[in-house]
Parts: sequence; structure tokens; C-alpha cells
Amino acid sequence: MAFCLLATLLAVELANRLPDADNGKATNYIDAHVHVWTPDTARYPLAPGFNKDNMKPPSFTPEELFKHCKPAGVGRINLIQMSFYGFDNSYMLDMIAKYPDVFVGTAVINPLGKDPAREMDDLAKKGVRAFRIHPKLSEQPVEKWLRPEGYKAMFAAAARNNQAMACLIGPDALPELDRMCTAYPDTPVIIDHLCRIGADGVIRDADVDRLCAMAKHKNVMVKVGAFYALGKKKPSYDDLAPLIKKMVAAFGARRCMWESDCPFQVQGDHTYQASIDLVLRRLDFLSDDDKDWLLRKTAENFFFVKKDAAPAK
Ligand SMILES: [Zn+2]
Repeated sequence: MAFCLLATLLAVELANRLPDADNGKATNYIDAHVHVWTPDTARYPLAPGFNKDNMKPPSFTPEELFKHCKPAGVGRINLIQMSFYGFDNSYMLDMIAKYPDVFVGTAVINPLGKDPAREMDDLAKKGVRAFRIHPKLSEQPVEKWLRPEGYKAMFAAAARNNQAMACLIGPDALPELDRMCTAYPDTPVIIDHLCRIGADGVIRDADVDRLCAMAKHKNVMVKVGAFYALGKKKPSYDDLAPLIKKMVAAFGARRCMWESDCPFQVQGDHTYQASIDLVLRRLDFLSDDDKDWLLRKTAENFFFVKKDAAPAK
């Protein structure tokens, strides 16, 4: 009887563990891209031009995020400063300080500001590992989006601090990025959301080829995610497989990192699990080792390894 009870308890315990134990491996996955925000706009005010109606959903705090990511085996996250906080990164920084073992961050600073490189140095001490840049921030047309002087200082500081320039761009912004990557070959660069290829529903070969060509720059990485927003925009996102296959072939799994882009990935029919499952279970061209890089090691090596520590192999 006692044995029976013990066996039952053991079976329950094992069943509880199963979702976290894929193929017997620990599943300490990393999500390379999540936004958090709070409805407390008195303490964390929105930037001019934004109001509470822009906050959809009205709240997405770390605790709300954990309800989605922890059951999927994700334990660490790179936060991305949300647009409606403008250049005030304080909510993100406070959340990094609250959960220092879970979060690092990607901040937004003004490239047209007085001394962006110094801001990058200061933010490095607060867990900021990357800076989000895009043509709108530059106040320039897309073909000149990296011309403002501040970007020279930013790309140089990023190389010095091992911080990344995280680019929210479409394929039309790649020629300018290519120019800067040639001028600053040591600067880590991350292209978000598969360069938004297929955001209008059409995955064009010319766009795919342009993104693949960026792999010639050794420090350019790609975030593989925001599946809810690309191609057919329907779970299980199998139509994105050929695009992802070409990216992994061009960049190698060691320069690709999975991202959910929560909370946008957890609205309507879209779920957190569906996003991670595309990489974990539905892409037959990925080896187990490739999956380990996409879901953990690439992001771990860049975002979470201290400079003096040996990177994961
Ligand atoms: Zn995002």
C-alpha cells in the first residue's frame, strides 16, 4: 500500500516535470525579446504623444509575463524598452534591478542627443546589453537612416562595451546598415523580427537574399521570432519554415536567437507555446544542437555571459 502510494506520488511528480524536461535536457531557454509595462503611469509616465489607449494590453508586468514563459521552460529574458516610454528607460531598469537573475535589457536612447556614447557606458552598469535603433528615431528617410553623427559614437561605444545595436527595421533599411557594419566591423548588431520579412503577408526572395547577405558581417545576429506578425500570421507558423531555414543556413544557428515579442505574441489566437514550439518541434532541418543555440546559447553568450567568464560551448 505504502509502495503503491509512493509509486503514484513519483508518477505525479514525473508528470509535473515533463513539460520542463524535453528529451531529458534542462530547458532553461532564453527569450531574446519581450516588452513589459505597468498601468501605473503616475510613477512611470508615458512619453509625449502617447496615452493609455496605446497600451494594449493595458498591463504586461514581469509577473504577467512569467505566467506565459515559465511553463514553456523560459527562465531568462532580454527586455526591450517599450516605445511609449520614449527615452525614459526607468521601468525596464527597475524590473532588471528587481529580477537581476532573469532580465537584461535593450534600452532606447536619443541618437541625436548630446552624448549617446556616455549614456551607453552608464547603462552598461545597469544590465543594458543593447540599444534599439530604427529610422523613425533618426528623423531621416530610410536610405539615410544611419547618417546622423550620433550613430558613429554609438557604433564605436557598442564595440567597446560589447553592447549591440538592435535594429527594428525592414529590408529597405539594410543598405545603410551594411555601410555601418563595414565601417564598424567589431560592433555587435542584432536584426529584430527576421528583418520584418513577410510583415505585409508576402515573403519576397529578394528581401530574404538581402538579409542573408548581411551574414558576411561576422558580428551581425538575427532574432528569429515575432511569428504572430509575419507571413500568414497563423499558428503553427509553418509557412515561415523556409525563411528560417535560409537564415540559419546563412548565419548559422550560433548567430540566430529565438524571441517571442511578448506581449504581442500572446494576443488572440497566438500563444507563447506556439512560438517556442515552431523552433523546438516543427523545424525538421534543425539539429538538437541548432535548437540549443537558437533557444538558449546564442542569447546566453551575448546577453548573459560576463565578459571575464568563459562563454558556453
Ligand atoms: Zn517588440
